[in-house]
Amino acid sequence: MDSTKKYVFAFDEGDGKNKKLLGGKGANLCEMTQIGLNVPPGFVISTEACLEYLDASDHALPAGLIDEVQAHMRVLEEKTGKGFGDPENPLLVSVRSGSAMSMPGMMDTILNLGLNAETLQGVIAATGDARFGYDAYRRFIQLFGKVALGVPDEAFDTEFEAIKAAAHAKQDVDLSAADLKEVSERFLVVVEQATGHPFPSDPYRQLEIAIKAVFGSWSGRRAVDYRKQFHITPDMANGTAVNVVTMVFGNRGDDSATGVGFTRNPATGENRLYGEYLINAQGEDVVAGIRTPKPIDRLKVEMPDLAEQLDRLRDKLEGHYREVQDFEFTIERGQLYCLQTRNGKMNTVAMVRTSVEMEREGLISKEQALLRIAPELLEQMLFPRLDPSVKVEPVAQGLPASPGAASGIAVFDADRAEQLGTQQGHKVILVREETKPEDIHGFFASEGILTSRGGKTSHAAVVARGMGKPCVAGAEGIGVDVNRREARVGLTSFKEGDVITIDGTSGKVYLGAIPMVEPDFTPELNILLDWADEMARLKVMANADTPVDARRARRYGAVGIGLARTERMFNDVERLPIVIEMIVAETPEQRQEALDKLLPLQRNDFRDLFEVMSPNPVTIRLLDPPIHEFLPDEHVLERELAELRVLAQSARGVSVLAGAMGLLHASESLRHEIETARRMVDPAVVEEAIAKKEAMLKKVRALYETNPMLGHRGVRLGMTFPEIYQMQVRAILEAAAECAKAGIEVHPQIKVPQVCTAQELRKVKAFVDSIHTEVAEKFGKPVPYKFGTMIEVVRACMRADSLAEEAEFFSFGTNDLTQATFSFSREDAENKFLPLYNQSGILQDNPFEVLDVKGVGKLMQLAVEWGRAVKPGLHVGICGEHGGHPSSIAFCHQIGLDYVSCSGPRVPVARLAAAHAALKSG
Ligand code: ADP
Ligand code: MG
Ligand code: MG
Repeated sequence: MDSTKKYVFAFDEGDGKNKKLLGGKGANLCEMTQIGLNVPPGFVISTEACLEYLDASDHALPAGLIDEVQAHMRVLEEKTGKGFGDPENPLLVSVRSGSAMSMPGMMDTILNLGLNAETLQGVIAATGDARFGYDAYRRFIQLFGKVALGVPDEAFDTEFEAIKAAAHAKQDVDLSAADLKEVSERFLVVVEQATGHPFPSDPYRQLEIAIKAVFGSWSGRRAVDYRKQFHITPDMANGTAVNVVTMVFGNRGDDSATGVGFTRNPATGENRLYGEYLINAQGEDVVAGIRTPKPIDRLKVEMPDLAEQLDRLRDKLEGHYREVQDFEFTIERGQLYCLQTRNGKMNTVAMVRTSVEMEREGLISKEQALLRIAPELLEQMLFPRLDPSVKVEPVAQGLPASPGAASGIAVFDADRAEQLGTQQGHKVILVREETKPEDIHGFFASEGILTSRGGKTSHAAVVARGMGKPCVAGAEGIGVDVNRREARVGLTSFKEGDVITIDGTSGKVYLGAIPMVEPDFTPELNILLDWADEMARLKVMANADTPVDARRARRYGAVGIGLARTERMFNDVERLPIVIEMIVAETPEQRQEALDKLLPLQRNDFRDLFEVMSPNPVTIRLLDPPIHEFLPDEHVLERELAELRVLAQSARGVSVLAGAMGLLHASESLRHEIETARRMVDPAVVEEAIAKKEAMLKKVRALYETNPMLGHRGVRLGMTFPEIYQMQVRAILEAAAECAKAGIEVHPQIKVPQVCTAQELRKVKAFVDSIHTEVAEKFGKPVPYKFGTMIEVVRACMRADSLAEEAEFFSFGTNDLTQATFSFSREDAENKFLPLYNQSGILQDNPFEVLDVKGVGKLMQLAVEWGRAVKPGLHVGICGEHGGHPSSIAFCHQIGLDYVSCSGPRVPVARLAAAHAALKSG
């Protein structure tokens, strides 16, 4: 061990920037001392000393540490004119823990250390206040006993309550000096009984025990659990420092006080001192809630001089730290001391407002204003939240799958959601075990979605996020019973029509309606995001399929649509039958007939999107999913067919009966009934229905694929059924031409999914060009468009150079590319093995949430490089879900993408993340 090593730093010498060494509290105490704020004298024992102590096998403090501490104690004695352990004029200190990261779970602070039977008399003599002395003493014995010696609180509380009862005291303040003297005496006994040793009276011994206890708390269970929970790694904080601070007393009478302050209001960001204080009290009283503190404004009335001093303290803190500060102060007999400061934790609204205002006040630059806000936080400002002042217990906890909160009546299937929601105008929450693509109309009709199964990337979660609707997924405590239209939660249940509330930001589920606060897309947020756009190099576009989505994305600042999925447009109740007609068509003519019906519908869709986004580009992806996804389920068909066959039999029976009617002596009315029945179940009609179902079933079976996601989809459809793509291309180009004619500036971009060879692109390009020529002739003027490809299969990355010869832009579809790179099917991965992979550290993150930079990212990087080698100006972006994820955005910036595209509600997050990426990469 290095005995010349320095472990202890006085507040006037420690490096205020070195939080790793001195802990956050210690570094700031040094910094505040050195900028001339009134901090009681003290010193910091470094985190290094802590780690060495914890490493030592003999449980001894590092060699030389105690000598250093003693030397620093002597300096404190000189500065204060008091003596540590001096019965005449005793010096008392607090011993406080503090690591680089603020961490509840570590050791509590010990106040009034240095007290014993003799020094206590010195305190009483010096203050002339016996009550004060005994009060300090009993607090010290309890805190030291509990924190440093591990004596349980209850043992003290029992004694304390007994004396309070005997003294007929309602509150602690009602106790007299004699009462408190008795308390302290009994406390000494409590400690001795619990530990088997008398309470340590030697102040230096007290100090040594306290230092060891603080160090030890770093590896205590509470602290270890906390670090695990919040992913605090050793490079963020390693070991705790110990701060030894001269005691100052806010409980020396009515000219003394203690309190906490925020330099600005942490709830609103308002530029005004905010906080609370208590007259004649110690710091812990404010926190413990024994007395109700007063709002800081009152201080102007009660102690006007000090209110002014406090204002100056506030200005000094902010002027120095250039950040909102959360600080502790104590006033001892008219003298103001600052005991702690740290960056204030605020809600997002306040963060945004203070960023903009501090920039205007010249405290920080625009860059700093942007960098002090984590992009993720902005999501809070776009969704309604539960009113934080309302405290209600949730009934279930699921995954926070899509942010925002919503209340409504529970419904258990999509059709009921549509009836009750869309048609009858109720606010509904769709509750399902899990959702499927055919539930989509239920999503539209609902305020929010709750599932009892599935993860953050389950169908429900992904679709809800895309729509910007709140979703709680995988709330396993809820048992959904669709048939009875009710759900069990623990001992209670809720039925269809009962009001529930879900909070997709926290994953909590509540019974009844919980009050909400509306989202606040404040003017300050707009200003901040404009700055972000100035700094960013990446442009932010949106994934949007409908004009509603597009309009919202635009409001959030998207500069175009990077992905419009045409299949979503097919899933509409009126269109689906036509789509099915197109799929099951037996002849090209039949197919064309259906396509002719779809063409004007799609043209209108695209026209709407162009209008909403004008003059920004709109990128439309040609049909992607396997077409059998639009067809009815095989098993449902089989069941229906079986039922129809039973019906056919009965129909034949009735028919036979009717034929035999002449032989029956049936009454007139029975004859009539039989005849009606015969007409109603005409065997011919039933046979026809059977034939239709059979044909459909045959088609469904013919289209069956073992691995649909690796099967007949994307551009492969464009090769086998070119008419479908041709219809879509025509719809896009005609819509664009119509807009242009109406004077609306449009920039259509056509992109082809699932491409793996340049041949595919060439074939599509050929008919796009010829349709473009036709449309130009028809409208008399060509509208320029861009033609590009999705890059979402590994081969496309490897062949990026030859694809670049055909494509004007690349758009990485990282959802599919991730599946393809890992050869993981996303659903199976997330439901089966990925959680274990993450827990056991085989994979750090879920690659479907956080872009896998090392694998998928590497492929992207190569594709960009090779593509641009062929076509230097090649425009490249990303449209997978990762496009809205800050760390993935940073990577996209690094490898030189031009844009990211994400769901509308992520657009503000992405704009800020794009600015961060640019600013951090210098
Ligand atoms: P925490 O991290 O829990 O706030 P602190 O170390 O800041 O713990 O201390 C707890 C309380 O004791 C705070 O109110 C603080 O202001 C007060 N306190 C700490 N040291 C002193 C001191 N030397 N004199 C007076 N009060 C103190
Ligand atoms: Mg504190
Ligand atoms: Mg894809």
